[in-house]
Amino acid sequence: MRLHIGIDDTDSAKGGCTTYIAALLVEKLSRMRLRFIDYPNIIRLNPNVPYKTRGNAAVALRLEASESEYVKVREVSIQTVEEYGRIGEEGTDPAIVFLRGKPPSAVARLSRKALTEIVSVHDAIVTLRNVSGSAVFYGSGLGLVGSLAAVGNTLEGDHTYELIAYRRPRNLGKPRRVDEESIIRMDRLTSPSTFNNYDPLNKRILIKPHGPDPVLIGLRGETPRAVYRAFRLLRFREAIERWVIFRTNHGTDAHFRPTTQRTPHANSPVVLKGVVHKMPTRISGGHVFCELETSSGTVQCAAFEPTGKFKEVVARLIPGDHVTVFGGAKQHDQLPMTVNLEKLIIEHLSEDGVALNPRCPRCDKRMKSAGRGQGFRCPRCGYLSSKTSKRFVKRERNLLPGLYVPDKKAHRHLTKPLSRYGLKRGGGTGIYLRALGIGLDPYGSGLSKQRGYWTFTAGGW
Ligand SMILES: [Zn+2]
Repeated sequence: MRLHIGIDDTDSAKGGCTTYIAALLVEKLSRMRLRFIDYPNIIRLNPNVPYKTRGNAAVALRLEASESEYVKVREVSIQTVEEYGRIGEEGTDPAIVFLRGKPPSAVARLSRKALTEIVSVHDAIVTLRNVSGSAVFYGSGLGLVGSLAAVGNTLEGDHTYELIAYRRPRNLGKPRRVDEESIIRMDRLTSPSTFNNYDPLNKRILIKPHGPDPVLIGLRGETPRAVYRAFRLLRFREAIERWVIFRTNHGTDAHFRPTTQRTPHANSPVVLKGVVHKMPTRISGGHVFCELETSSGTVQCAAFEPTGKFKEVVARLIPGDHVTVFGGAKQHDQLPMTVNLEKLIIEHLSEDGVALNPRCPRCDKRMKSAGRGQGFRCPRCGYLSSKTSKRFVKRERNLLPGLYVPDKKAHRHLTKPLSRYGLKRGGGTGIYLRALGIGLDPYGSGLSKQRGYWTFTAGGW
């Protein structure tokens, strides 16, 4: 019997990490000789939910378990969440969902909704009851939404992989010690089969988080092999407690789909076609605002300072430019609905230029108007002409039509990076997985002292 376990909202601002709990559980369940039917999944949900902790991610584990094993799995899962979840801390409302068999379409629907809207706890409970799932939750039960959404998203379409290595408890809260040069070198050697390791424009390392959580590094890539190879290229200056490869919707634009809303609703992703309406403005802090005329009225768009070169592209737009924008709609007090831009397609650039007075044919000085309907007079030699008129002088736009995304450092987890466009997604269907147990090391590379889960796709490589 197939068993899906969804876990969400176990971390708080002070620490913890739901993926870490998943890593512990993968080990515990593997020791019980249970067979996994997929990599552990990290499912990112609607990034615009206001109460999310950091990236709004939930996890799902999928395995084969008999009726008697199920009882044990349930017990171990609850125990692990209770031991490692930050239960009782502010804003932490953990939940674990158990679902047997193939996730029914109602759960898949709820998952899709959770990517682009706000799903209520009530909706999650009703769905769970209708499909005979079971759940354990703490606090407000908010974690039920993510847990159930994770279970229902089996990543049928585009997906990527993330290898996450975790720190020893004694290092928590201290700076993460990974040799930076080795990260930059790894990026050069493995890109584009890995992505968002390093932002060369801002000289920023992207694989290391900064918070008190136990994640040492997270490496993203197209295949399990790619992220493992990248991992092996790094030089670590602190001990790794364990590592796991997850399958995920990172970097897939899963929140921008044909079904994504075409009119802005607060706290939801939106895709809008429009024409630039006014010259963009820059406010203190470096944020750039731009107004679009769209089929649903005038919409304010914002490119924030951290988006780097992207906001400079937005600043170069002029009235008349045709664009499609992708972003998250936000409603702030006493401000119009604003779309925080995550992506921009410039479809058509309008002509920029100025109407200038003609030059004097005798001395080449720019002439001045001699009065309404009177033509132009040269201020230097006095030449007067009623036959000349203003000339439209085209100005270089210094901008090309095309797709623009923020600098890598400002990418959201779901943002599809430029390097992934045009890649042929491999291993998308029919993958299966084996969790091969603690310490397995396919490359004979001396990593065997760490606990790691090595998994692979059918067809080999
Ligand atoms: Zn003149």
